[in-house]
Amino acid sequence: MLAFLLPAVAAACLTHPAELDREVGRRALPWMPPDLARQITRHEKEFAAGAAAAARWPRAYHLPAGRPGLAAAIRTQSDRLAEALRAQAPFAEVVAGLGALAHLAADLDAPFLAANPNDAYACSFTSYLLTAAPRIPLVFYGQQRSLIGGPDAGLGSLVAARRRDADALAGIVRDDLDRVGGPASWRRLDDRSSSFGTASLLLNHAASDFANLASWVWLHGGGLVPDLPAAHGMILVWKGESQPREAPSPRLGFRQARP
Ligand SMILES: [Zn+2]
Repeated sequence: MLAFLLPAVAAACLTHPAELDREVGRRALPWMPPDLARQITRHEKEFAAGAAAAARWPRAYHLPAGRPGLAAAIRTQSDRLAEALRAQAPFAEVVAGLGALAHLAADLDAPFLAANPNDAYACSFTSYLLTAAPRIPLVFYGQQRSLIGGPDAGLGSLVAARRRDADALAGIVRDDLDRVGGPASWRRLDDRSSSFGTASLLLNHAASDFANLASWVWLHGGGLVPDLPAAHGMILVWKGESQPREAPSPRLGFRQARP
């Protein structure tokens, strides 16, 4: 039976695979409130199940222009999670809900979010992204205290800004793939390519957004969100395997943000 299924699975194109959400969650661990990050590492299965459930929500929940739309989906999910924390729901349930939130954060930053599921460029970029991920450093674009402390997670402007950048990146990846011979030649992309840069921005922006959204949930659910050190114009870099951070952490580094 499995043999009959395999060709169909191999031919299927998923521009937003489940691995992407798990990678976003894994990358966000050092930047989240450590107590919450530890719960995520304890409930990996539930996190993955929650992300997979969000992937099955109607398309209108994933697109910025849909009804209710991506911003409203993120806001509703964040509200629900904060309420679950206040009601002392089991952490397995909270972490499943965070998996769904990670999926939405990945949507926020995905260059081919609105592309047709069979778009050859989108499929090739996804394949490349998954092979490049282990070589992409862990970077945090900063704790957004105004978003974390705000009443509705300050989402409208975040969604608009992220989508503007991500949509522009889709055009850059299409040109990059044409440069190496078209979408079928994605294996020729190297780590100095624009596609590598785009993959890095997608993963680290999504992880940063997810860490900030999860911090909003934690704070509004009654938790404490410790400050992360970062001077203006600097980004944080994590050295080694992604994991909840200790304080003070020898794994944190600083780097000047590129324009
Ligand atoms: Zn989605």
